[in-house]
Amino acid sequence: MIWQDQLRQDIPLDQRRVAATQQPHYRQTKVVFTIGPAVEDSDTLERLFRQGVDICRINMAHADHQWTRDICRRVRAVAARVDREIALMMDIKGPEIRTGKIDGEWQLEEGEQFDFYCDLDRIDELQEEGVRGVSINYPNFWEDVKVGDTMLVDSGLLRLEVMDIQPCRVRTKVTVGGPLTSRRHVNLPGVKVRLPCLTEKDREDIKLGISLDMDLYALSFVREADDLDLMRSYCREQGQQDVRIIAKLEDQSAIENLAEIVQAADAVMVARGDLGIEIPYETLPIAQDRAIKECLRQGKSVIVATHMLESMIQNPMPTRAEITDVAHAVTQQADCVMLSGETSVGKFPLECVDTLNRIITAVEKQEGPGWNDRIELKSAKGLLLRSAVILCQELEGAAIVCFTRSGYLANILSSLRPRRSPIFAFTDDARALKRMCLNWGVDPFFLQFTEDPEETILKAMNALKQHGRAQAGTRLVVIANALLGERVIETIQLRTVE
Ligand code: PEP
Repeated sequence: MIWQDQLRQDIPLDQRRVAATQQPHYRQTKVVFTIGPAVEDSDTLERLFRQGVDICRINMAHADHQWTRDICRRVRAVAARVDREIALMMDIKGPEIRTGKIDGEWQLEEGEQFDFYCDLDRIDELQEEGVRGVSINYPNFWEDVKVGDTMLVDSGLLRLEVMDIQPCRVRTKVTVGGPLTSRRHVNLPGVKVRLPCLTEKDREDIKLGISLDMDLYALSFVREADDLDLMRSYCREQGQQDVRIIAKLEDQSAIENLAEIVQAADAVMVARGDLGIEIPYETLPIAQDRAIKECLRQGKSVIVATHMLESMIQNPMPTRAEITDVAHAVTQQADCVMLSGETSVGKFPLECVDTLNRIITAVEKQEGPGWNDRIELKSAKGLLLRSAVILCQELEGAAIVCFTRSGYLANILSSLRPRRSPIFAFTDDARALKRMCLNWGVDPFFLQFTEDPEETILKAMNALKQHGRAQAGTRLVVIANALLGERVIETIQLRTVE
């Protein structure tokens, strides 16, 4: 979370941060960046953190364990140095289908027959003279596809149609040709894939994540709610009782089971890279819209990911379409927008974050959809929080302050989307502190709570002044617990900073 003034073009990229007294805009949509060779050194990380990224994503499809350990240590050290809360997210690869190894590069010709072998040990026996082929890491492939199904290889660059199925061998015809190299990603639109949702590699990666006390996990190719339950029970077996899992929506099954997946997950990622291949691409905007609305209804966080500023991997300026796409995600009230290759391997990672800051700030300053009244709140506590948000919206310029141990209160307040009212969330739990980086509009602070609620509130107000978030006269809607004899009662208080 960061205070922005997008008009200060004269200020160097990494210093575009202004004091609260200058009445800046408070950016509410969060930014996730993917770490990689382009940004992994401490200096670049420091500049990124000062620019206001909120979450660092480690993509386990590319990360080895030693690198991951080093990165976690470095990210935490740099974040502490610049006094910013940055959450670490481990993105678990999941059951990705890939072709096997080949020598060099093959050119697949349109109309050519091409085979896929599902049993590595029987390739010699499965090969047929005159027909080229490659292994595939999906033993049940030949049982799960049917004649006429489409296969997309290498993000859809190659397209093949299933022609004939024999035990452990699938024969296809190339309908769109091109180069094939080793270990290319395969998509099977509409096919119910029966790979286990956690591979051996995923289990090893999760163990590493637990040993590193990762703040958030993203699970790839979640197809149903059970996938999330399986990951939770695996984490429990490994001694981690309480994990935060972001379900990556990447195929048709995930869209079909959207409501139950959102319910079982802590948050959702609209992973448009794979999703845009697995479902007809013209329906991708509809899927994104449905996913965000479902998350807003259930009070869960949602990240919009992939190709947000793809052209900026090579160029210092976004395309007009990218600007509009980012703006659209902000208008839809996604919690976070995410950068992938733009920051991990791109030529202009700092410019990408600056671009997001500028677009988000410009859009949030406009008249928007207002607070989220779609959310289903049944508990008395939920209704109290809603009243706090309504009160805050009526008081121009007021901010919300809450005290939360697990981050739950901050999550609900965030889901209510109080426009232009920052949510200052104080916690005494280091884990909750980082997890709140995911929540739209939440500015998390660590605070040691005391027995006396009034003392805790005063400590929080002082912290806000010290950090330049509030000044004398700032109005705060405070949600606090008060002790009444044996009972704890929740209260809303209207306070003014002195
Ligand atoms: C995606 O497919 O959009 C995505 C974020 O997943 P990954 O980068 O892991 O393929």
